[in-house]
Amino acid sequence: MSQSAPDLFDKIVNLSKRRGIVFPSAEIYGGFRSTYDYGPVGVLMLRNVKEAWWRSMVQLRSDVVGLDASILSPPAIWEASGHLANFTDPLVDCRNCGARHRQDKLDDPDVCPTCGMRGQFTEPRHFNLMFKTQAGPVEDDGAVAYLRPETAQGMFINFANVINTSRKKPPLGIAQIGKSFRNEITPGNFVFRTREFEQMELEFFVPPAEADQWYEYWCAERLQWYIDHGIDESKLRLRPHGPDELSHYSSGTSDVEFDFPWGWDELEGIANRGSYDLDQHMAHSGQKLEYFDQAANERYVPHVIEPAAGATRTMMAFLMAAYDDEIVNDETRTVLRLHPRIAPYKAAVLPLSKKPELTGPARDLLAELQPRWMVDYDETQAIGRRYRRQDEIGTPYCITYDFDSLEDKAVTIRDRDSMDQVRLPIAEVGDWLAERLS
Ligand code: ATP
Repeated sequence: MSQSAPDLFDKIVNLSKRRGIVFPSAEIYGGFRSTYDYGPVGVLMLRNVKEAWWRSMVQLRSDVVGLDASILSPPAIWEASGHLANFTDPLVDCRNCGARHRQDKLDDPDVCPTCGMRGQFTEPRHFNLMFKTQAGPVEDDGAVAYLRPETAQGMFINFANVINTSRKKPPLGIAQIGKSFRNEITPGNFVFRTREFEQMELEFFVPPAEADQWYEYWCAERLQWYIDHGIDESKLRLRPHGPDELSHYSSGTSDVEFDFPWGWDELEGIANRGSYDLDQHMAHSGQKLEYFDQAANERYVPHVIEPAAGATRTMMAFLMAAYDDEIVNDETRTVLRLHPRIAPYKAAVLPLSKKPELTGPARDLLAELQPRWMVDYDETQAIGRRYRRQDEIGTPYCITYDFDSLEDKAVTIRDRDSMDQVRLPIAEVGDWLAERLS
């Protein structure tokens, strides 16, 4: 069924709450604006998003290695990167209604979207988005620390460590997944923009002459990744930045955008950053961050191509792209048509009745599958309702153990999308799933 945009947004928020995907944080204390907790189902899905990214970006490649850098960081890093001076958003207040907005995100820079008044904004103030804290018990300047606003700097400052220890040479990528923090002026749209979020970033270091070609490569590769993981091509586009949007050091940036209920918006940015970051850290740290190519007897500062995605934002896009309701036997069936790699549970084992003669062998089958996949188990309520519950959280296969199973040693497997059922010997279930879930 096609979904109207505002409807879809509300349906995703409601489903998330109802099925343990995403909860508003600190709810028992009245909530804490724009923070979210990932529930029992959501945590699986978020892990799968990150795992799918890691699989494509690290596991299946020999030119990318991983990193997990610290979140707390000294001011020196952010001084060098330019974040202390420039990581600001222009904040305007409406004199009429008091609402606060990010000036660069307004449709009309003179009109307040909250009250509709024209010409009531204050002069923009530049507001730094970094969270500042202190490390250690003494509050002096020496103790200032920042929560990282992006994971990228971890890769730049460790470039020499990685080159010296990995026995690899450019083109070489360093990938990282982790939390980042930004004191956003206008968080919102559910988990689209939050102050605490997770990023999945790659810094791909290349010989300068190869930068343009690798930039093109990563733009195509990253767009394809979303398609390969189940988002329809019509809901995605690659939007090159205009010259006025480009940072001074970037010779090209494109965003992968998704058709969100409020319009096209960014999922990921891919930037050709030149040697800006390594140059800055060399200048500020006094350390050499170069590569010496022995074969060519040549020393150079690599250029960097950066595909930077958000894990939490991507999860939301996957939810929106997968959501469907349809009428089946006069009832609405809600189904998340998620790619099996992204689906929270890969299968659910459902004994037809709560009688121990069925639940015993059903649990044996569960135990056999659990080492390989996340498999849910549910023995309460009518089977039809249990199927619907699994449809709502996107479980690709429901495995029903019924009274005949005791005799024929077979189970019924129901497909989430087509609702077709097949009867399969229990001994073959593992291989059957493996073929479809890889
Ligand atoms: P915007 O212009 O929307 O503030 P950005 O262009 O500054 O974002 P990047 O610095 O390129 O974002 O970050 C890379 C990715 O990290 C984004 O494409 C997005 O998926 C994710 N991201 C950035 N900020 C947030 C946030 N506040 N909440 C959730 N995800 C975010």
